[in-house]
Amino acid sequence: MLEFSFSPFTLELKSVFRIARGERSSAPLVFTKISHEGVDGYGEASMPVLYGESHASAEAFLSKVDLSGFTDPFQTESILHYVDSIAPDNKAAKAAIDIALHDLIGKLAGKPVHTLFGLPYKEHHTSMTIGIDTPEKMAEKAISYNGFKYLKIKLGTDRDKEIIAAIRQVTDQPFFIDANQGWTDKHLALDQVQWLSEQNTIFIEQPMPRERKEDLQWLTSRSSIPIIGDEGVQRLDDLKEASGIYNGINIKLMKCTGIREGFKMAVAAKALGMRVMLGCMSETSCAISAASHLGALADWVDLDGNLDALNDPFRGHFVDGGRLVATGLPGIGLSKVDLKIFQEPASLR
Ligand code: MG
Repeated sequence: MLEFSFSPFTLELKSVFRIARGERSSAPLVFTKISHEGVDGYGEASMPVLYGESHASAEAFLSKVDLSGFTDPFQTESILHYVDSIAPDNKAAKAAIDIALHDLIGKLAGKPVHTLFGLPYKEHHTSMTIGIDTPEKMAEKAISYNGFKYLKIKLGTDRDKEIIAAIRQVTDQPFFIDANQGWTDKHLALDQVQWLSEQNTIFIEQPMPRERKEDLQWLTSRSSIPIIGDEGVQRLDDLKEASGIYNGINIKLMKCTGIREGFKMAVAAKALGMRVMLGCMSETSCAISAASHLGALADWVDLDGNLDALNDPFRGHFVDGGRLVATGLPGIGLSKVDLKIFQEPASLR
């Protein structure tokens, strides 16, 4: 029998994080635990406002989950199919169950999760993200992140060129650019893309609003660097359409319901000739470690969400010299869990 519990948490960030469509200084999370024969697997949901989930919606969903009818945790397809069928959406809440289940079966098998998918662990250089601020402050951040191979720069403002010019004054680290749907005129967007392609930019994420599919297609067909879908590509089913719009996809466990569907998306995207990146939300080391197991299928990795956290209750895969290093431990690779997160009443956190 599988026992399941969950607990809400608020992740505090070191500084206010701004993107083209909002800002935050904390993030609502829910931690999950699935237990079988005395072994505990841990998971996490992180719920950005943009995707419509919240503490309330996640708790409402997770309250409906009853895993007591399942006796074999290795039946992940059946278990996760059941979880997905409880209600539509709730992708982060579903990911929290998927992650805990994979952590559990990895621990039961004595293997890291990537081996359960037939994958080696690939030690990627993760990018480090700089949120929107004044050009001067963004350049200061860039200096402080000189240990990272790639910088991910949030754009989609009316000062984009000033921002890039200021950062290029202080570093020549290659850029991942993320406009977060912030460019709304396709001709201006193409101008930005062409200019950025001359600024040592590797790719551009979600340059225009996700619903502007024809404009995005127009832009992608003219861009000399890959255009990656993020907000516009969430689950496996979205790939059918996305393959005609973008050059690649940003897979995030919180959008795609977890490691299992993320694996399927990466395999399918590669079969369609698309590029794959792994991304994240504001998350703890739990969800970051979980996502890193799919690194062997990724061209690029942006798994830095835990590096801005003030109160991360987990320790797991960690950044060393800009690379995301595995602990080698079974499951998702957690080396420390602060068990208080499952003991204190929600009102105390
Ligand atoms: Mg993005």
